[in-house]
Amino acid sequence: MHNKSLPELSTALHSGEISSVELTQHYLDRINKYNGDLNAFITVTDDRALEQAKAADKLLADKKAGPLTGIPLAHKDIFCTKGVRTSCASKMLDKFVAPYDATIVEKIDAAGMVTLGKTNMDEFAMGSSNETSYYGPVKNPWDTNCVPGGSSGGSAAAMAARLAPIATGTDTGGSIRQPASLCNLTGLKPTYGRISRYGMIAFASSLDQAGPMANSAEDAAWLMNVMSGFDERDSTSVDRDVPDYTASLNDSLEGLTIGLPKEYFGEGLDSKVAAVVETAIKQYESMGAKLKEITLPNTALAVPTYYVVAPAECSSNLSRMDGVRFGHRVEDPKDLMDLYTRSRGEGFGEEVKRRIMIGTYALSAGYYDAYYLKAQQCRRLIRDDFLKAFEDVDVIMGPSAPTPAFRFGEKTDDPVAMYMEDIYTINVNLAGIPGMSIPAGFIDGMPVGLQIIGNYFDEARLLNIAHKYQQETDWHKQMPEAFK
Ligand code: GLN
Repeated sequence: MHNKSLPELSTALHSGEISSVELTQHYLDRINKYNGDLNAFITVTDDRALEQAKAADKLLADKKAGPLTGIPLAHKDIFCTKGVRTSCASKMLDKFVAPYDATIVEKIDAAGMVTLGKTNMDEFAMGSSNETSYYGPVKNPWDTNCVPGGSSGGSAAAMAARLAPIATGTDTGGSIRQPASLCNLTGLKPTYGRISRYGMIAFASSLDQAGPMANSAEDAAWLMNVMSGFDERDSTSVDRDVPDYTASLNDSLEGLTIGLPKEYFGEGLDSKVAAVVETAIKQYESMGAKLKEITLPNTALAVPTYYVVAPAECSSNLSRMDGVRFGHRVEDPKDLMDLYTRSRGEGFGEEVKRRIMIGTYALSAGYYDAYYLKAQQCRRLIRDDFLKAFEDVDVIMGPSAPTPAFRFGEKTDDPVAMYMEDIYTINVNLAGIPGMSIPAGFIDGMPVGLQIIGNYFDEARLLNIAHKYQQETDWHKQMPEAFK
């Protein structure tokens, strides 16, 4: 049952072949069986899920159900869920119960979907390995000695082990695409502004974007139909029509021009990963696409630019966690300053503190022009590279991550090595364009993703391009032996 696509589950639910309660119980049983080892979920909302499932069954019986009614899902623990702990994997918010729902949670609930629980992640979404979580690391179901990627590693592991049929994630610098690559999933980071950020705990507000983590492009398209759209409560969400993302999945790829940035295939890329990615691209050629070498000359600026912009924004966003209004508060503070400093000192983990310090420094008087402003200028150059490339090509392809999943502890002592995990994904966030990662093959049993990058609001095209590939290949259907 846990190998069915969303359309198949929908048909089974609507025909009465299975009830939502049965389906939900099936996934709760799997979570119960496997989560102890994987640590993919921080909170499992069993009772609530079964109540939602009952309500979905009623809608189905009354013929008032939509396509997703009754289908279970897992939310990254960065989305506020009313009445349910929303921790962002931080000690700071360990006891925080959100008083309201994020817009996407509201929309997904309104579609009749069933929330199984909240998935583990890097603390405040800062990381690429899920090792910074207050609740401990998440294991990669493909090899439990390896990381699942991050920061949406809990959603990725839950999906890879089929503990949920679909999950949400967020991507500030690669946090949907890199774990999707490391766990053999289809993950989409939409255009900045396509999906509301209201109720999604802010890391770097000008980069953060939510998206689906799925077993196929078709499933991702189904969830995109629900998640997308303007929200007056998020001033950066874009008021633009939402297409039916499933409608163009089968469009022909004849005449599609794919740009291959030479900067993506050079130094730093594992040669075996390069071979997998090149084979996938050849497959596209055989499906009617044309290939064109392009250049994104400012690619090398992406990681340093990001590590000024993202920490600057997070230092500002996280200042609200002060022990007074939100989160962890120390016992017996001596005075106000002691309350602030000890609450923050105890509540935040090491990586979060590192970023707050970098960001505070970059924004401080005298350094703002030298760092933050400069970074914003670099950001414009990176965006212009993409706009220029899209004058000649329809989409860009390359690796999602430089290597397959690595072992626990391998990069924890070297923050810069960890930061390089996102070398192919970060520039997409800086430009605000959409990108996705799809399963493209394996190296010694570990998955490798292909990244597809599109122009602004080209999500439907990306999903179409991914879907056509998934009609011809079955990489996305592979699952780890131990969780079958
Ligand atoms: N790995 C990047 C970071 O650590 C990106 C994280 C993300 O996309 N949330 O900031």
